[in-house]
Amino acid sequence: MLEVRDINTYYGNAHILFDLSLTIAAGECVALLGRNGAGKTTTLRSIMGLSPPRKGAIEFRSAEIQGWVPYRIAQAGIGFVPEDRRIFPVLTVEENLKLGQKRGTSETTWSLERVYQVFPKLKQIKDRAGGNLSGGEQQMLSIARALMGNPDLLLLDEPTEGLAPIVVEELVHAIARLKQDAMTVLLVEQNINVALALADRCYVLDHGAIVAEGSAEFIRNNEKLRSDLLGI
Ligand code: ATP
Repeated sequence: MLEVRDINTYYGNAHILFDLSLTIAAGECVALLGRNGAGKTTTLRSIMGLSPPRKGAIEFRSAEIQGWVPYRIAQAGIGFVPEDRRIFPVLTVEENLKLGQKRGTSETTWSLERVYQVFPKLKQIKDRAGGNLSGGEQQMLSIARALMGNPDLLLLDEPTEGLAPIVVEELVHAIARLKQDAMTVLLVEQNINVALALADRCYVLDHGAIVAEGSAEFIRNNEKLRSDLLGI
């Protein structure tokens, strides 16, 4: 579904990603692992067109999307859930969800009802203002809003960061459910247990380059890799 080929991304003159390549097949959940500053968020931003790569190619469902503006990439079917969640504080939960709804299409596969099935908690608090939600509720809302855009690929940037263990569990359950529904997911996650519980395959990034790739099982059993590259 997605093929990233040899991308190089810069912030000004700072070279951040070096010939980075990765692939994701339809229905896969792929995790991007690595220490702080390794380039995980920049990879997601590159795919989304928010930090467009200067070199390399990004193919999404047979379209070359590098150079497209983020809005067009979203329209093409990539949903992005940023680390800071971007909830509109004065709008209610349901209003936030409606804002995510894809316009100009009749084949709406995600409805409010279906989103509430994955996140029953959101239905209970649908009239509450976004600004009055807990961190976990905001995270659920942010993922749910991205789903309302009917993505074929979901990019999740550290969805469990800063959340209490019980809320993390709830989120893992919801993401696992999306996987069962055949959603394709690229997951950036610092919580290695969450990443390994959800991912079919993992890439490890270090200093802006992919340095290892393998199944969750491979990462779990590779102690040297975990200590050298992930600091675990
Ligand atoms: P984290 O978990 O800390 O977010 P990460 O793996 O997602 O880490 P990135 O956020 O992609 O890493 O950052 C990669 C590198 O780019 C880091 O060295 C960071 O300092 C640098 N960087 C990030 N944003 C900018 C920016 N706006 N301008 C300049 N450098 C940046």
